[in-house]
Amino acid sequence: MKPRIAIAGFQHETNTFAPIPTRYADFERGGAWPGITRGEAIFDVCTEPQIPIAGFIRGGEDFDLIPLLWAAAEPASYVTDDAFDRIAGEICERLASAGEIEGVYLDLHGAMVTESHEDGEGALLARVREVVGPDLPVAVSLDLHGNLTAEFARLASCVTIYRTYPHIDMPETGARAAALLARLLKRGKPFAKAHRQAGFIPPITDQSTMREPGGRLYAMLPGLEGNGVECIDLAFGFPPADIHDCGPSILAFGTDQGAVDAAADAMLAALHAAEGDFSNPLVPAPEAVRAAMENETDRPVIICDAQDNPGAGAVGDSTGLLAALIEAGATGACLGMLWDPDTAAQAHEAGEGAEINVRIGGTFPEIGGPPVETRARVEALSDGRFTCTGPMYGGAKSDLGPMACLALNGGAIRVAVGSVRAQNADQAIFRAVGIEPSDHRIVAVKSAVHFLADYEPIAARVIFAAAAGANPCSLTTIPYRRLRQGVRLGPGGPPFGGTA
Ligand SMILES: [Zn+2]
Repeated sequence: MKPRIAIAGFQHETNTFAPIPTRYADFERGGAWPGITRGEAIFDVCTEPQIPIAGFIRGGEDFDLIPLLWAAAEPASYVTDDAFDRIAGEICERLASAGEIEGVYLDLHGAMVTESHEDGEGALLARVREVVGPDLPVAVSLDLHGNLTAEFARLASCVTIYRTYPHIDMPETGARAAALLARLLKRGKPFAKAHRQAGFIPPITDQSTMREPGGRLYAMLPGLEGNGVECIDLAFGFPPADIHDCGPSILAFGTDQGAVDAAADAMLAALHAAEGDFSNPLVPAPEAVRAAMENETDRPVIICDAQDNPGAGAVGDSTGLLAALIEAGATGACLGMLWDPDTAAQAHEAGEGAEINVRIGGTFPEIGGPPVETRARVEALSDGRFTCTGPMYGGAKSDLGPMACLALNGGAIRVAVGSVRAQNADQAIFRAVGIEPSDHRIVAVKSAVHFLADYEPIAARVIFAAAAGANPCSLTTIPYRRLRQGVRLGPGGPPFGGTA
């Protein structure tokens, strides 16, 4: 008989500095990933996109899987108590009625903060433990951006984490969790475990594993496994989270406590030794635009609007970079996706080819600058339903509501507007409104790092731009209040609270 394993997912990355809360309806709707999915539908809906549970399902063929519920919402501010209680509650109800089970798999993020819990995943695991007891194996896969607490580590039986940023290894991570759980079941008693936290928080814009030191640090992990270490992983952490445990952490599991501790200590030492190699690549938006306008190749310069990345909880409608493009007289430029349901609706009302006066973006002018008021031609319209094609989101069915391509300055600048907040990490977002990124000299994307996977291969150059937004990427500018004393803000940065 195959072991009966209950599977569920509840993913959120919470930016506690962002202005928009995360409600139950945001999980119902989904966005880049599927909305709340229950029971057997998980086998269909959640195996199309490249997400961890898809890898667990494919890798868990030796298990009899009991699908409970899977949910994710676009990053934003605190998950409301209502949303957390309803989703965690339904997962636990379904778990309680799943019958006799040998284990649980949870597809989680690691950086969920709710109105009542700094550690959303720890709170979820505590509820799951109330149902299954302290000893039942609970395997978890996590995002590389988890801010992981000692309590979370105590409650999980085994954990594995994405090893790429952009996250192009989500299914592999889910499959690794399945293999790890199988080894834990075979062992028949708990793994030894280790949890370590780093003494500094690296900026999110220099966490990519397509850059150094991220590339070489993550490449170390497989070499630390074996000889009593079943699995060791590193989470770089999610900086815009004002919680005690914000920042990088290491989790290791295995059969030998000494080996597990030694591996975790070696990884922590390597991370600290690399501290000085993290550097924030941000340049002011006007400077980024000027540099991009010098592009004389036949490939586009990609400018990322890192601090307005909706994928990190920012609004996605800040106007600093757009204003810089207009101000500089940029031509052959496209920018997207700018979240603006009102302007998208206005464009749909007016129809393709219409000339309209628009007020684009700027819902929270104190955070992301004022709306851009200009004349625009409606070049193309879309219902916002399309399938992503890039290395990270490939296969995901997006539903971004009414979208439009607006041509400004006689077509010198094209802006893709849409109705559901979404990070632009996939060229399909532009193509949904007829914009072919490669045909432009300058391509501006609302993303911090994930865009690299699909856009760097077509780029002459990539520039990380700093414009106003709710995803502050320079650690010393983030108005933290609740970090642990002494953690350094950025590589070599000042310690929080002023203590050494
Ligand atoms: Zn992430």
